[in-house]
Amino acid sequence: MTMTDPKSAVSADVMALAGELGAERSRPGWSAFSLGLNDEQREIRDWAHAFAADVIRPAAAEWDEREETPWPVIQEAAKIGLYGLDANINLFVDPSGLLMPLVHEELFWGDAGIGMSLKGTGLASSAIFSNGTPEQWSQWMPRCYGTADDVRVAAFCSSEPGAGSDVSAIRTRAVYDAVTDEWVINGQKAWATNGGIADIHVVVATVDPSLGTKGQAAFVVPRTEVRGLEMGTKLKKHGLRASHTADVFFDNVRIPAANVLGGKEKLDERLARAHESRKSAAAGSSGRNASMATFEMTRHIVGAQAIGIARAAYEVALDYAKTREQFGRPIIDNQGIAFKLADMAMEIDAARLLVWRAANMSAALMRGETPDYRHGEGSMAKLKAGEVAVKVTEEAIQILGGNGYTREYPVERMHRDAKIYTIFEGTSEIQRLVIARAISGMRIR
Ligand SMILES: Cc1cc2nc3c(=O)[nH]c(=O)nc-3n(C[C@H](O)[C@H](O)[C@H](O)COP(=O)(O)OP(=O)(O)OC[C@H]3O[C@@H](n4cnc5c(N)ncnc54)[C@H](O)[C@@H]3O)c2cc1C
Repeated sequence: MTMTDPKSAVSADVMALAGELGAERSRPGWSAFSLGLNDEQREIRDWAHAFAADVIRPAAAEWDEREETPWPVIQEAAKIGLYGLDANINLFVDPSGLLMPLVHEELFWGDAGIGMSLKGTGLASSAIFSNGTPEQWSQWMPRCYGTADDVRVAAFCSSEPGAGSDVSAIRTRAVYDAVTDEWVINGQKAWATNGGIADIHVVVATVDPSLGTKGQAAFVVPRTEVRGLEMGTKLKKHGLRASHTADVFFDNVRIPAANVLGGKEKLDERLARAHESRKSAAAGSSGRNASMATFEMTRHIVGAQAIGIARAAYEVALDYAKTREQFGRPIIDNQGIAFKLADMAMEIDAARLLVWRAANMSAALMRGETPDYRHGEGSMAKLKAGEVAVKVTEEAIQILGGNGYTREYPVERMHRDAKIYTIFEGTSEIQRLVIARAISGMRIR
């Protein structure tokens, strides 16, 4: 009598199931999950890495000491097509959303201060892109960058001395003058990257103070064509010292009516709707706050910058730990050091996964799809990456010991640079607030 071998019966079932699964998996419409990069993404990432290694990194310490905008590096980047509007558009067209964070990670791996000088303009051009009309895109976005022979930078001015995290406290006023068909802007902006040296300043101002953030709009102010725009003191900073940061004063600055992003007609409609919804006490008017819309689009990209800094510091620390000998053996031979490096590697990868997820979702959103992008995924990416950068750069100093604390080694600079990533584009506390509100559906304070 033949007995059925229970093991072979199981394996026959498993084989049949595997066959069915295989057929199902190859059905058109299913796409395999992959974190692998395609050839084009790898090529562009490697090109950005080569520029970071050959041009940015050798210049990093010098520009950090000088605390000046590294114009020659910006020019060099523009000459090879790494700086400019086209360069940015080429990164945005990647349907996976990954090219932008990939390139940012590499440039900031080179140096964050120079990286910010190359990428700070993106904040203003993103504001024009997300709030402007197609005519405004073509009129203003090329001017943000200038040309390869005549490079320019742009500034996005939202923060004020009394309005950092709380954008509803913005006091800068834009008043419409019907006689001349112009806006008249008065106020003070604080901590503006490229403020006062930029050709184009995108300024968030209050048009109707009674409406809070819904009464705000963003305006394009071309510095060389107006009177009354003055740069305040250029700020001396803890880190990102190759990137220019300054206050900007607006004293009766007049700009054409057409310079309000989205157009005056749309703004008037939006304000009318906001008044209407306030009257009927309806929650959630359709009006979007200009600065918030910009931050939403750029948050994961800022996270990628922080990852670039963290990875750079981790690599220096790993090399150092393998070569530095104490007690007759490399310091990495001690679990106390090796485990630190293991944690640093893991945290960097975890942060990058959050950045790539948010990048992928926001790209889908821009394509008109409806990804489940409702839980503060952009904030999670920026929050995690910023905190990882601070922690990893601090651990890198610890691993390098006394050398890490001096300017003979780059981790001291990287630590100073990393700290801003828990502060700008929404502090870590504000990111937690955004996530907490998103996951709870409650107005957590
Ligand atoms: C180098 C640099 C570049 C910058 N570039 C720009 C730029 O280009 N354009 C621009 O507009 N701005 C820019 N900023 C400004 C930056 O965005 C603000 O500094 C940031 O938003 C924080 O605002 P704040 O400094 O006023 O801090 P505050 O808002 O005063 O916060 C102080 C502390 O209180 C905490 N806090 C505040 N509110 C809450 C709350 N509700 N719950 C819990 N904690 C809270 C914060 O998290 C923080 O820890 C830049 C700043 C720097 C330093």
